[in-house]
Amino acid sequence: AKELGRGRWHFYANEIGSSVLARHKLEQYLRHALQEQLFEVYYQAKIDIRDNQLVGMEALLRLRSADGMFISPAEFIPLAEECGQIVPIGNFVMRKACEDAISWQKMGLKRRVSINISPMQFAQDDFYDTVYKLVKELSIDTGLIEFEITEGVLAKDIERTRNVLESLQELGIKISIDDFGTGYSSLLYLKRFPIDILKIDKSFIDDMLDDESDEAIVDTIIGLANSLRMQLVAEGVETIEQVKALSAKGCFVMQGYYYCKPMPYLQMCHYLQENT
Ligand code: C2E
Ligand code: CA
Ligand code: CA
Ligand code: CA
Repeated sequence: AKELGRGRWHFYANEIGSSVLARHKLEQYLRHALQEQLFEVYYQAKIDIRDNQLVGMEALLRLRSADGMFISPAEFIPLAEECGQIVPIGNFVMRKACEDAISWQKMGLKRRVSINISPMQFAQDDFYDTVYKLVKELSIDTGLIEFEITEGVLAKDIERTRNVLESLQELGIKISIDDFGTGYSSLLYLKRFPIDILKIDKSFIDDMLDDESDEAIVDTIIGLANSLRMQLVAEGVETIEQVKALSAKGCFVMQGYYYCKPMPYLQMCHYLQENT
């Protein structure tokens, strides 16, 4: 081991010990949370700034610990992937998001809801069947559903991936590529798969105003989406300067704290009513 300074090694060893314990505890808590239905689904609006319309929203999973504090999805989603629990958790999110989209439609507040699909969830042999059964069971208008997948999904098992995506598209579900630009993007993949929307990753939006290479990446993604006739969403938009720069470049759909944070179902009902 490397000498990291006085007392540092001891501290480091302790950290590893407690993090293994913490992981184990979190894994157990995830199982408990599934059983006791402690997971919540929040929604974040996507705004088309050309007419200021709320054009859709993203479903985002939330979990509180016993003391009521939120545990970050960035912490529990990767762990849920490692221990396989992401499959039942993902199924829960899908059902809840569809039910909420149906209830908004009944209230006259029809909006498309996008659902994050983890690579492991997508890789299940019965992924399409599960979606199909849910769609039939709820008799949901599939125009209300969008799936957000990451570039990594496209790079794996290309034939099957294309089949599944094409079947989903035939069913009427829209497909977007999440965090676009951060994974292995081959232009070839993009052309070969039925992709409707590119979501420009927050990291590029964050730095585009003071980093030329980030700005160049944003320009490239926008050009790519336009030439492949895909829609664009900018994620993690926090300032009016970003909104102005993006719209000047031809990206008009924004998702981010500048417009609104993710909120629970009831709050979204009010938000939709006020913005319709
Ligand atoms: P993501 O799919 O890229 O989701 C966007 C994340 O950025 C969300 O974090 C959202 O709350 C946050 N965000 C949106 N606008 C802003 C902004 O203006 N500023 C900042 N700082 N953050 C913003 P969240 O909800 O903590 O989720 C983190 C990640 O966890 C998601 O990243 C996604 O990869 C994963 N995740 C969340 N819910 C689900 C789910 O239901 N299924 C799966 N498989 N993954 C999920
Ligand atoms: Ca997402
Ligand atoms: Ca994203
Ligand atoms: Ca992201």
